[in-house]
Amino acid sequence: MENVRAFLNNEALKCGISLDDEAIDRFMAYKDMLIEWNEHINLTSITDDMGIVIKHFIDSLLCYSTGVIRPDARIIDIGTGAGFPGLALKIAFPSLKVCLMDSVQKKLNFLDNVIKALSLEDVELIWGRAEDYACKKGYREAFDVVTARAVASLLVLAEYCLPFAKLGGHVLCMKGPDVDGELVKADKAIKLMGGRLGDVLRAELPMSGGDRRIVVLDKVTRTPAAYPRRAGIPSKKPII
Ligand code: SAM
Repeated sequence: MENVRAFLNNEALKCGISLDDEAIDRFMAYKDMLIEWNEHINLTSITDDMGIVIKHFIDSLLCYSTGVIRPDARIIDIGTGAGFPGLALKIAFPSLKVCLMDSVQKKLNFLDNVIKALSLEDVELIWGRAEDYACKKGYREAFDVVTARAVASLLVLAEYCLPFAKLGGHVLCMKGPDVDGELVKADKAIKLMGGRLGDVLRAELPMSGGDRRIVVLDKVTRTPAAYPRRAGIPSKKPII
């Protein structure tokens, strides 16, 4: 266990994050709960300690390397699943105000138990769909940073995520290496939702854990009131 802790600490430092003992304790407890709960509900296909540290924790912390996350930011993680990247970022930066959203209730139940076990504050759990919540007061154009990993194509993510970002805010879409084609297809949707391509961060996970890209979208103009369209439509009839 000591080497898992030291490994996490070193890799977080490479992302510019200094984890204290309490944060590392929380990550280890989160890992143990993920393994335990995964025996009963399907949360992750990665079930070994090192795999969880690399492919869930470090991968999530790469978001910080984009330079757009201030430690006191308000963040929403769309399609958070078992909490990636949103809950991992919250553990690393306890002063973040984080909303974790997913359309599957049992995943929120897992997250509720983790948040209580780790005594984390300022975490809101939302059982719902991005298309519905993006129209609600207090959520629409209300976040500094919007994150999404493994939720949908970039084209669909533009419609799910950009409506949540405030002007001057950012959307971080976590992707694999083949993002160039997705970027071309998403160009129209990004602009229509009030976004602009800011950056594409390239990163390699340790121990050949994978080649990663984080697409940074900047929110530059207000999202028109007609978007996002109602639940299910963005994925069925993407903006092309
Ligand atoms: N982000 C997590 C990760 O990378 O481990 C989970 C990824 S999982 C493949 C995709 C998640 O997105 C699922 O838990 C699903 O319920 C959720 N999801 C898909 N579409 C959604 C929507 N429109 N609104 C909210 N959640 C959604």
